[in-house]
Amino acid sequence: MPKRAYDVLVLGAGGVGSAALYQLAKRGIHAAALDRFHPPHRFGSSHGQTRIIRQAYFEHPSYVPLLQRSYELWREIEAASERSLYHEVGLIEIGPTDGIVLPGVMRAAAQFHLEIDRYSAAEAKRLFPQFVFPDDHTVVFERRAGYLKVEDCVAAFLAMAQRHGAEVIADTEVARWGHDGAGYCVSTSTGEYRAAKLIIAGGAGAKVLLRGINAPLQALRKHMHWYEIDDARLQESSGAPCFFFESSHGYFYGFPELAGGEGLKVAEHGGGETWEPSWNDNQSADPEDQRRIEAFLQRSILGVSRRPVRHETCLYTMTPDENFLLGLYPGDKRIAVAAGLSGHGFKFAAVLGEALADLVEQGSSQLPIEFLSPNRFAV
Ligand SMILES: Cc1cc2nc3c(=O)[nH]c(=O)nc-3n(C[C@H](O)[C@H](O)[C@H](O)COP(=O)(O)OP(=O)(O)OC[C@H]3O[C@@H](n4cnc5c(N)ncnc54)[C@H](O)[C@@H]3O)c2cc1C
Repeated sequence: MPKRAYDVLVLGAGGVGSAALYQLAKRGIHAAALDRFHPPHRFGSSHGQTRIIRQAYFEHPSYVPLLQRSYELWREIEAASERSLYHEVGLIEIGPTDGIVLPGVMRAAAQFHLEIDRYSAAEAKRLFPQFVFPDDHTVVFERRAGYLKVEDCVAAFLAMAQRHGAEVIADTEVARWGHDGAGYCVSTSTGEYRAAKLIIAGGAGAKVLLRGINAPLQALRKHMHWYEIDDARLQESSGAPCFFFESSHGYFYGFPELAGGEGLKVAEHGGGETWEPSWNDNQSADPEDQRRIEAFLQRSILGVSRRPVRHETCLYTMTPDENFLLGLYPGDKRIAVAAGLSGHGFKFAAVLGEALADLVEQGSSQLPIEFLSPNRFAV
């Protein structure tokens, strides 16, 4: 016997699913989100204290309008939930002038008139003495950038969704879903649920939930490290920004020490080992990843120790072109999908939730999301 019936069921209540549930509930749509764990949790992609948010998007300028809407929505959910989620500490980005990051930042900033300060390595050394800048690199500083408190964002969306009448059905794994003429039937570890429409936002589990369209997704296990600091200038309270370095060694990024200690957080954006959705809780560290991180710290940051204080693993879900999959499920206007956020999606969670709600409510969205259509991989 089916348990309950809804207008919309959201499969996955992580970063994106929680935002979608909030949007649905705010619109008065009878909705619930199903999650295998109890979100926010540390077994998917939306945990580990912080996520960088920025607007001068080196990956592709087409993301900028979505980011601008996302900023508005982050401020909206902050006000509604009375939580501080977005911390505008700024971001320095460092790289070769002919690399990927710097030209991309400049292109997006020029196209959308975004405020960016550009410095030579010598000027940057004077302004940010805690960082080491190679002489032939350029540095940009984006003032309207910073970090989001990742678990708090998920918790805020879920709490606000519930306040608007939505349900969060935790500890419930979706095994499969299908249409039986009367609507969708979702089979889970705790029984069957029914809905007129679906939103699929399963993060690294999306490959299983989207098996009908053979989505080209690859999940990667990634590491986050926290190190004790020896220099107070690396603290947020001293004005230290987030940072993103491109060099011949790879892409490394991190966050100042937040109030309450726990050290400076740092991670590598590239690489990662393939992860299969077997849901094993493998949180173990990788000595090679740690070696690369410590070599980066040695090269690039002054006043941070080699004393690790915390380590966590997390999942990227990659598409072949590293752009998201966002749109209607191919061939079915009653299902909206967000997947393959390729390690840069959290800052968009607020606007992706809005886009998904638009798609299931109206069959389309005014947001400029066409470039992310899942149809681009259809054979
Ligand atoms: C180390 C790391 C650093 C990152 N840094 C940044 C950054 O600085 N800035 C940025 O913007 N982005 C960053 N990202 C990317 C960003 O965090 C992700 O793109 C985003 O969190 C993905 O959200 P999601 O909702 O798709 O996945 P999740 O938050 O993982 O949500 C998916 C949910 O679906 C559930 N689920 C899956 N399968 C099932 C099933 N069968 N049944 C029931 N429930 C299911 C899971 O339990 C999970 O809760 C980073 C990611 C990582 C891993």
